[in-house]
Amino acid sequence: MLDFLLTLTVWLHKKIYKSKNMEKWKCTVCGWVYDSAVGDPSNGINPGLKFEDLPGGWVCPECGVGKDMFEKM
Ligand SMILES: [Zn+2]
Repeated sequence: MLDFLLTLTVWLHKKIYKSKNMEKWKCTVCGWVYDSAVGDPSNGINPGLKFEDLPGGWVCPECGVGKDMFEKM
C-alpha cells in the first residue's frame, strides 16, 4: 500500500512538473495560439494536453486548418 502511494505521489509530481512546461503553438494562417495550459475548450480539448497529443482530426478553431499549419512559439 505504501509503495502504491509512493508511486502515485511520484506520478502526480511528474504531472505537475509537466504542467509547468507548457507550450504554445501558433496558427500560421490566422495567428490563433494553442496554449497547452488552456487547451481548446471549444473543441472539447482539456487544459494540459500537449499540441503533439491533439487528435489527428483537430483543426484550428478560428480558420479550420490542420495541425501541420501550426508552428511552435
Ligand atoms: Zn487558424
